[in-house]
Amino acid sequence: AFIVLEGGEGAGKSTQVRELTVWLRDQGFEVVSTRQPGATKLGMRLRALLLDRENSHITPRAEALLYAADKADHVQQEILPALRRGAVVISDRYVDSTLAYQGAGRELDPDDIRRISDWATQGLVPDLTVLLDVRPEEGLARLGGAVDRIEAESAEFHNRVRKGFLDLARQDPERYLVLDAREPQEKVTREIRRRVRAFLPD
Ligand code: C5P
Repeated sequence: AFIVLEGGEGAGKSTQVRELTVWLRDQGFEVVSTRQPGATKLGMRLRALLLDRENSHITPRAEALLYAADKADHVQQEILPALRRGAVVISDRYVDSTLAYQGAGRELDPDDIRRISDWATQGLVPDLTVLLDVRPEEGLARLGGAVDRIEAESAEFHNRVRKGFLDLARQDPERYLVLDAREPQEKVTREIRRRVRAFLPD
């Protein structure tokens, strides 16, 4: 099974990825817990480059292609091999982040982003995507303010990203679980477990 957590800055994705990983491992599943960007050797270099505030000169299309390169490497080297041996893969961000940030946020054509992402990922789609929805002001406040290049973007940018995620969830309700990230962490954890339990083998 392939599970993805998505959401804006400070939504609590990494905490929930950790909780879900431990919970599934306790039940005997092999779990590969991973993230985008930055899971592979190339990905780590791309992540450093993409998040460095010195790199404000990177153009939207170049940014989109760098995220696509990260995905291509990640899917081929890590996600597909893990899924093939029957592991549960949990990723902190995936294609929908690119549709939300580079598509809605940077205002690139969503069809183009979809096409390069599908190509990069060999068409691999998650079984479940959990969207931790949070208002950008609240998320960034939780982080204690913007630190990386993307977090430092305008409020309008982050609002477009949030709307981008919500639109994706609305278009594909079967695949999506949308949760309010303002709820207590334990409650969010419980709701994710309930949904994940439904499609795991016994
Ligand atoms: O969630 P995480 O902190 O790992 O994301 C790293 C940064 O990359 C965040 O600031 C996020 O907004 C940005 N990002 C992006 N486009 C993506 C994925 C992540 O701008 N497709």
